[in-house]
Amino acid sequence: MPLAIYPWQEALSRDLEIFRHRMPSGIIVSGPRDIGTFELVLAFTKSLMCENPAEDGTPCGKCPGCRLAEAGTHPDIRFLLSEEEAARHDLPIPESAGKKLSDEISIAAVRELRDYVALKPHRSPRRVILISPADRIRPDAASVLLKMVEEPPPDLSFIMIAEDLDAILPTLRSRCVLLHARKPDPEAASSWLESKGLKDFDEQLAEAGGNPLAVVRGHKIVPDEARTLFLNLLKAGKRLDITQVAPGVGTGWKLDACADFLSRWGTDLIRVKSGLQPSYFVGETPELQSIAPRADLQALFHWLDETESLKRASTVPLNNKLALEKILESYRSAFRS
Ligand SMILES: [Zn+2]
Repeated sequence: MPLAIYPWQEALSRDLEIFRHRMPSGIIVSGPRDIGTFELVLAFTKSLMCENPAEDGTPCGKCPGCRLAEAGTHPDIRFLLSEEEAARHDLPIPESAGKKLSDEISIAAVRELRDYVALKPHRSPRRVILISPADRIRPDAASVLLKMVEEPPPDLSFIMIAEDLDAILPTLRSRCVLLHARKPDPEAASSWLESKGLKDFDEQLAEAGGNPLAVVRGHKIVPDEARTLFLNLLKAGKRLDITQVAPGVGTGWKLDACADFLSRWGTDLIRVKSGLQPSYFVGETPELQSIAPRADLQALFHWLDETESLKRASTVPLNNKLALEKILESYRSAFRS
């Protein structure tokens, strides 16, 4: 089964599959940034670590290889990332000094790989070094990397992701298989966004250069558990049980995304109260219509302001559970009954 994470990745996913059983020493995947290529390449890399894959290469998800890969601790997967790229994908940042994150791959980071390259695989038949962004490797570092790619151990593969293929050292490029990640066409982008429950995104999609993931990031989607918890609480109106908030809040939920979600609900509630259709939670129209008459319009506007403040405040560290309890308590008090 192809590993495509997003519908526009089927071609790239098939291209990668071709190499599953015969990995070249270098692959470069080029294409626009932020269209999910890193996620797909990482999923492919993890799947290579499965010790009990299906015939078509689908990872079992249960073996030690899969578990270690999923936990980010597989000894046969290494990353060579800029600090910025690591932060973007919630991966450990090796040499961050707490300053502005660098968007380049340094020579120190490449040199650190030399000992690893000389080793043998720990568990799986092959090792992978995932490099991104490969077009942001400092020139001195690129020549160190070139030496490794020129004479790699037979079990080692470098998979590189780059936006600008021309910015990669030609001698490095010529040693790699070149694959291309394509941006989704407008129809695919729109239908995917619709499947995520978004509406009226044409302008944002255009602003994002046709990249639907950028639109979603703008909307700051919350995890499904957060969506379920919030909707249950919000639909209860005055009967919202505040003691359910703290135990339900997951670790790693981004407060600004939560605030954004709550603010969209507030907007819809105000719309419904004013006799309009909801913009965001169309599937919840009956619930919105049932609680809207019992809410005070002024109090709802005030609450909407509070969600906006919470979005801005979340750039400083806050206790998520407390902050969410507070804002939901305030939501409850906007209802008369
Ligand atoms: Zn497995």
